This record gives sequence, structure tokens and C-alpha cells, in this order.
Amino acid sequence: MTVKNIFLSVAIPTPLRCLFDYLPDKNTNHKILKPGLRVSVSFGRQKNVTGFIVSINNKTDHPEHKLKRINNILDDCPIINTEHLNLLLWASNYYHHPIGEVIHNALPALLRKNISITNYEDSFWSLSKNNSLPNVNSKKISPTQIKILGHLKKSKVSISQFDLNKIFPGAKRSLNALEKRGLIRKETKKNSSNLVKINKRAVKLNKDQKKAINTVCNSINNHSVFLLDGLTGSGKTEVYMSVMDIVIKSGKQCLVLLPEIGLTPQLIQRFKDRFKVDIAIQHSGLSDIERLKYWQDAKTGKAKIILGTRSAVWTPLLNPGIYIADEEHDLSYKQHNGFQYSARDLMIVRAKRDGVPAILGSATPSLETLNNAVESKYIHLVLPTRAGVAKQPKYQLLDIQNKKMYGPLSQMLIDEIKKNLELNNQILLFLNRRGYATHLYCHHCGWKAQCNRCEIPLTYHKSNNRLNCHHCGSSKKNIKDCPLCKSELLRLGHGTERIEEVLLEKFPKVNIARIDRDTTQKKDSMNIFLDRMHSGNIDILVGTQMIAKGHHFPNVTLAAIVDADRGLFSTDFRATERLAQLFMQVSGRTGRGKKKGTVIVQTYNPNHPLFHNLIKHGYNHLAKSLLKERKLSSLPPHSHMALLRVEAHNIEQVKYFIKNASMRLKQLSGDTLLLFGPVPALIEKYGGRFRYQLIIQATNRKLLHAHLDKWLQKIEKMKNSKKVRWSLDIDPQNMN
Ligand code: ADP
Ligand code: ZN
Ligand code: ZN
Repeated sequence: MTVKNIFLSVAIPTPLRCLFDYLPDKNTNHKILKPGLRVSVSFGRQKNVTGFIVSINNKTDHPEHKLKRINNILDDCPIINTEHLNLLLWASNYYHHPIGEVIHNALPALLRKNISITNYEDSFWSLSKNNSLPNVNSKKISPTQIKILGHLKKSKVSISQFDLNKIFPGAKRSLNALEKRGLIRKETKKNSSNLVKINKRAVKLNKDQKKAINTVCNSINNHSVFLLDGLTGSGKTEVYMSVMDIVIKSGKQCLVLLPEIGLTPQLIQRFKDRFKVDIAIQHSGLSDIERLKYWQDAKTGKAKIILGTRSAVWTPLLNPGIYIADEEHDLSYKQHNGFQYSARDLMIVRAKRDGVPAILGSATPSLETLNNAVESKYIHLVLPTRAGVAKQPKYQLLDIQNKKMYGPLSQMLIDEIKKNLELNNQILLFLNRRGYATHLYCHHCGWKAQCNRCEIPLTYHKSNNRLNCHHCGSSKKNIKDCPLCKSELLRLGHGTERIEEVLLEKFPKVNIARIDRDTTQKKDSMNIFLDRMHSGNIDILVGTQMIAKGHHFPNVTLAAIVDADRGLFSTDFRATERLAQLFMQVSGRTGRGKKKGTVIVQTYNPNHPLFHNLIKHGYNHLAKSLLKERKLSSLPPHSHMALLRVEAHNIEQVKYFIKNASMRLKQLSGDTLLLFGPVPALIEKYGGRFRYQLIIQATNRKLLHAHLDKWLQKIEKMKNSKKVRWSLDIDPQNMN
């Protein structure tokens, strides 16, 4: 290839589903051109857009004289390797999402910018050889500088600037000042200590844990997927850690995905106590620069463990050894806007491409995963009992029809709370609705407080005396009287604020706390609550689903589902599965320590077979009968689904678009696909827009995707495709 006929196929973050050809700039040495390099290009009216070289070719489909030159190359060497690039291409293909946006989504924020990566290189600091600590009374040395010197003196290895900045905010200036005086010195590359020390586990494994660990370790160098199916508290995390121990000792890396709510300081501490290795932890609280550092540590192999929520699945690894997703059924693994990918599914794809094992852990596996286990595509490992001394909780269904109620709480539940308080135990009350009252209603004329844009009832929040729309977030001042007839408005339907109020009345002397999105806005507030709960400073914890998952509070003996009926009669085909999962998750919060736990379920439908099935036979039994139902109606996992979501202010445009799109898909696919629509979304109106869907089902996944590819090109050209907002969701997890 001479410089003359080199064409760069560049991915650019735009909704257009293609790559863009550019010419190298005149000064470029063509030998350094490689896929995986970022380039600065002009695109449309923008002068400096960050593009990404996907391939280098000697042909182009475009007239050569029309091609622009790139402005310059941003990196010295590719920021990701070919394997990782291929994964991104695969994802773009599978989710039918534009490659430019897929790559953009997969990179840490700083790499999306039009800046060279060397600007972000970390530096490492240590004391100069002939340094003796200066006279502390010296006027020219600041208190921070003295602290930094003291810190460096204690350490045997050089310390990263990122880390110093964390301990001493704004350390950069002090470091430069100290360097000028010759007291400390800088290295750009760390003479890495590569410390790998793994502590012995603190518990003695039971036979089921041993069996699970042995099974995984027997095929540690091959790809298989393991479903680790164990009750909450059955010791799954111990199993992950024992397997990771082996992987790390063999010099490889572990990627562990956790649901958004699962990445708690307690869990992080457990990993840190066990593994004295570099751990890259990715969560939403990180600064951009920390995020980049962890990303690079993973890429260079320095970090042996990568712990993170959904987006951590995009972390490049030098030497992958195992992939783990805890609570694999959790909905937070699916991104619901923009690029709608499933981190759990992608993780399995990665494990397969890398030829290493993947573990999916859950107490309530999703039906997709369970079905793969039933069909022997996954290896099913079971931990049937709680680890240590903890026993399974006892269930109590409380029929609240015609019973004395205090707001949402029955007298019977209040009595039980009292009993548990007297024994100095902790209590957890779960209600998946925040605010005080879910409806404001005029008994006289029938007026209801509604969001104008979403046509759903507004929720009254007592804490700030406002009416909020829980869909679009709009909010207005509370009103007491009906705007039409001036009668006093009734407050109906209960939220977590109301429970808290009743408890304060009934138990004025105990510590009550409420965890929901309203009380956890501030950074760290969740952790403060969790600390208080662990130290016994909270007696009764009220909360939404945020408290249902994952937490280990050994002193909780009573967990109550305040309103179990929501979800019993939903039209979403996944509603029963979700309700059963939630039911089990809440029950998993009680009786985790030495004391026996109780689960109380308040319901108007105490005879509903779902509850009896769950209590008597457990989740797996119920899940298997749900799988049979799905088979009879050819629903996932017994078919493959895609969803075309369409929304606009004008309802006719929305329906017209779907009918038209549906017709075109029918023409392409004949009878091979099942099409339903336009059907209204479960949230039919949102922020003033009407929302409808086309449901697409197929028995053959390959065929489905082949048709979708051709179809998308057609829809993009359809006349009113610019007048509506539309997106395609592959393997949708909700019909909202
Ligand atoms: P899961 O991840 O399934 O919820 P964990 O691994 O967190 O379960 O275990 C729950 C609790 O039981 C933890 O405190 C853990 O240290 C403890 N534990 C785990 N395995 C054992 C065991 N074999 N013997 C005693 N305690 C154990
Ligand atoms: Zn009225
Ligand atoms: Zn609204």
C-alpha cells in the first residue's frame, strides 16, 4: 500500500449506521496507522470530532476527490486491541445500533474527547535519595506538603499521583513545589510492585460450595457458562472468591459485574480483605480521571480484579480468566435508553470469544438463564441451604380485607413489629412506591390531580409538600382543595412516607429510617444508611426496592411486603416472574444471622396460587411452571423478541409509522416472523408523547436478525421516519 491509496474507515458518534471514509493527513507515516487509533476529523459542520479507525483499506466506495483528510491522529498506539474492537463490532451488529455510538458508549468519558491520551498519564512519586525531612518550622513548606512528605516516607514504593490526589485533594501543586526543591522525584512509569497476595478464606466451605468450586475449576481453561443457583446468603460470593483465587494465581484477570444496588462498600471491603491485588472498581461516583485510570489498569493487566456495574462490561482486559455476573436476573444489567444492550448477555459473549468460563449467580434466576440450564447449555450448580447457621425464614400471609388498618399497615403487622422490637431485632418494611399518597381525588366532583403530559396521577410528597409525576419528573406545589369545586381533596394510595409517619406515631421511641430515591439523592447517603443499619442504629427500615436486594443485615428477623398485590394482574408477560423474584429477594433479607426470620405478606388475595406456590415449593418450581406457560404461548425464552418503540406528540403519526414499518417487515419476511402492533406501551403517554410498539417474535434468531438488518435500511428511508422518535430494542426486558 502506498500512501496514495490508503483509506481510513472511521466510526463517528452519530445515529447514522455506517463508517465514514477519510484520507490520512499528509504528514502521517502510514506505518503507524492501525485500527483502534483515535483520530480528530471534521464531520458536517463540526471541526473536531473524535473518530475511531475501524479498518484501513486500499479501496473506497466514494469518489476519492470528495474525501476529507483527517486532522490528526490522537494516540501513539491503538487504545484497544483488535479482539476488543471485534467485540464492539459484534455488539453493533447484534443490537443493530450504529457502530460510532457503540464505541462512544464503550469508552471512558475522557477518551471520547478530542484530546491525546498522554495528557492523562499518571505519574508516580517517591522521596529523593538524599532527602532528609526538612525543618517543619520552615516557613516555605505548607502543611499539605509536610503531610505528603510524611506519607511518601512511610511507603516503600512510589505512589501514584491519582492516589495522592485522593488522600490530599489538590496535591498536584504541592507535588510540583516539592519537586522543585529536590525533595521528591517523579517517575512516569511505576516500578510496579505487582503485589499479589491472597488471604485465606475466613469460613470453612460446606460441601455444596466445594462441589460448585471444583466443577468450575475443572474447566477453568475452557469456555462454559455456570448458573450458580443459590438462595440469598447461601454463600455464592464465597464461591466466586474461591474461583477468583485460582484465576488470579494463574496470572489472569477477573471481571465481576454487580447490579447497581449491589456494589456496596461492605461488598467491596470483602473483596479487598481477601485479595491484596490491584482492584479496579467502576461505579457512578468516580471522577472521569479515576475512570480512565481503572480502564487503563484493566487494559494493561495491572488490575487483577475489575468490579463494576453494567458499563464495566466494556472494560478491555489483557488476560481475561473469568467473567462473573452476580444477581444475573437484575434489570439494571440492561441499558434502557440509547444503546439498549444487556451487560449480562454481552459478558457471556465475551467469555465465549475469550474461551474462559462465565458464572451467573442468582437466588432467582431469570427464565432465560434457567431455560439454558434446563436445556443443558449452562451447567447448573445449586447451593440449597443458607451458609453457616442461618435457616430459611417462615412465611405468613396476612389477609387485610376488612381488617383494621393504620394507613398501609394492618394491626396484625404492627403487633408483629412490636414483638420483634421487644427482642431487640431489626425490621424491614418494603413498599415499592415513594411519596405519601399516590392519588389526590375530589370526592365531590371527581377531579383528579394528573400530570398533563403523561396522563398519570401525581404523587403527593409530604416532605417537600409537592405533587410529583413519577414518570417525567415534573412537579408542582401541593393543593388542599379541588380547583373546580373547592371541596377538600382526598389522599388515596400509600407510599413509603406514609408508612414512616404511621410508625413514628406507633413507635415514637425507636429509630426509624426510610430509604428511597428521595432520601438517597446525596452522594454517600445510601452508605450512611447502610452503616447505621449495620451498627444497629436503625430499628425499623422502610424502603422501596432499593432495600430488597443483596444487603446482608444479620439482625433482621422480620421483613414485610406491605402491598404484595401490585404485579398480580399486570399485562406485562414478565410481571409474574418479576413479582416472584421480588418476593424471594425481600424474604432473603430476614433471618440471615443466628436468629430465625419471618416474612409477612400483606395481601387482599391470600389465596392467590402464586403465593402458595412460592411458599410451598420455592422459586425454581414456580419458574419451571412459568417456563411451560411461556412455551405454550411461544414467548421468550421460547422465542426471540425485538421491539420497535415509537413515540411522538401526534398519535396518528405514531400509529401510521408502525403500520407502515410492519407492512415492510411483512413483505421482507413472509410468514417467518410474528408481528403484533401497533400496541400501546405500558406507559402509554410520557412527557407529552404517545408511545406505541411493534412486537416482533421469531423462532429462529439468525433469520430474525437478517430480516431486521434489511428492514432498518428501509425504515430509515420511510417518509415520516424523521417525524417520530423510534428505536429498536433487541431482547427487550420490559414493555414500558
Ligand atoms: P450470597 O452471596 O449467596 O448472598 P455470601 O457468600 O455473601 O452469600 O454468604 C453469606 C454470609 O455467610 C457471609 O457472611 C459469609 O461470610 C457467610 N458464609 C459463606 N459461606 C460460609 C460457610 N461455608 N460457613 C460459614 N459462613 C459462611
Ligand atoms: Zn371537586
Ligand atoms: Zn409526567
